[in-house]
Amino acid sequence: MPKKLAAGNWKMNGLRQALAEVQALHAACPEPTCDVVICPPATLMRSMVKTCADMKIEVGGQDCHENTSGAHTGDISAPMLADTGASYVILGHSERRASYSETDDQINAKTRAAWDAGLTAIVCIGETLDERESGKTLHIVGDQLAGSVPDGATPASLVIAYEPVWAIGTGKTPTLDEIAQVHGFIRESLQTRFGADGLEMRILYGGSMNPINANEIAAIANVDGGLVGGASLKASDFSTIVQVLST
Ligand code: PEP
Repeated sequence: MPKKLAAGNWKMNGLRQALAEVQALHAACPEPTCDVVICPPATLMRSMVKTCADMKIEVGGQDCHENTSGAHTGDISAPMLADTGASYVILGHSERRASYSETDDQINAKTRAAWDAGLTAIVCIGETLDERESGKTLHIVGDQLAGSVPDGATPASLVIAYEPVWAIGTGKTPTLDEIAQVHGFIRESLQTRFGADGLEMRILYGGSMNPINANEIAAIANVDGGLVGGASLKASDFSTIVQVLST
């Protein structure tokens, strides 16, 4: 069984004072037995890396450009993230797919750029409510997985986050059976494509995970952790999730 991963996506939240939350997380869970990564806004990356230096907490970006440098105003490249001391990057989050029309091809290119820079890519996939209600969930998730993940993925370089778009930031979650079905499907697809390595790749659930539902979600087969938005902002909530994923 892969080691579980608690990944916090801070999105566009957090000023310098928010680093105190990471100190509080460390105080609450000094020795987590799951992996822990926090993905702050770019402005906090370097100070977060410094703050986490002696903690079992890694730092990740929330996106990267597919090129290493160049005329891309406002963008950040994978080597730049790595240069801050980051070790992960979230790619293909549904908010970026929706707001910036990111395609599977682009996410595939960004993932290759992340790997070239030595980063682990957390590639997000998931269906909209319309797609779920019209019975297309596995089709959409299968297509996104095939298109967004390059050949050559390994358990160390790739994490998949299954995030139903309608569950993100809404307080709604799929039923446990629905999560089990999609995670089982993703596992089978990874195994078919990557062989035994596919059994070791982590598949996170994301979408309104919180201290109350984390236990039952974490117990589902093929759920290897969580990608957590809102509940990662407060140490009191995120530490409970880290503790759940550490058991
Ligand atoms: C996310 O942004 O990836 C996410 C899962 O957000 P939330 O936990 O707030 O639904």
